[in-house]
Amino acid sequence: QAAIALENAILYKEAITDGLTQLFIHRYFQRRLDQELKRARRYGSSLTLTMLDIDHFKNFNDTYGHQVGDQVLKVVAELLSKNVRDVDIVSRYGGEEFTVISPEKTSDDFCVAAERLRKSIEDFPFEVDGKPVRITISLGIAAFPGDAEEKHELIEKADMALYQAKESGRNCFACWDESFLSKR
Ligand code: GH3
Ligand code: MG
Ligand code: MG
Repeated sequence: QAAIALENAILYKEAITDGLTQLFIHRYFQRRLDQELKRARRYGSSLTLTMLDIDHFKNFNDTYGHQVGDQVLKVVAELLSKNVRDVDIVSRYGGEEFTVISPEKTSDDFCVAAERLRKSIEDFPFEVDGKPVRITISLGIAAFPGDAEEKHELIEKADMALYQAKESGRNCFACWDESFLSKR
């Protein structure tokens, strides 16, 4: 019985984890965000959702190859996990895009964390064949309940904030702002 329980636990972990980065997969992210929003509603707390995307990664792959790109994804995932709190939930949203669900944080609180994440990637000495290469990320942040009450709207607004961070020159973060609506 114990062996079966252990086996099931291992299978479950594998089912919700991305093989390359060891982060949670998209489906788990969606489910977890549902749960965290429910909890935040019940206890009247806030949470932030951050969308992160590697800058000019297509270019990087074209230059150094997909396998080197995969190694970068692994390291970026590690750095993100290392630089958030234990309670924060880091997932691979897709391709070279990641999310962080940060319970009990407002956008203002999370700006400090976002800057730490941004800098942790910028400062990491990535190398290809012994030569330094530059990897940076852009981040978009939206908060419940201030910016959005519903999941789909929270994701959409974090995504629009990310788009603004890209537009502002990349390697930076943006917190959702009403003015983004007119800029799109
Ligand atoms: P931007 O700064 O606007 O985000 O530019 P970008 O080139 O990063 O954006 P775009 O979405 O056009 O390209 C994403 C690239 O990410 C394309 C694809 O080759 C790469 N990519 C996605 N998933 C993987 C993966 O699993 N491994 C590798 N090596 N590359 C991936
Ligand atoms: Mg992308
Ligand atoms: Mg990108």
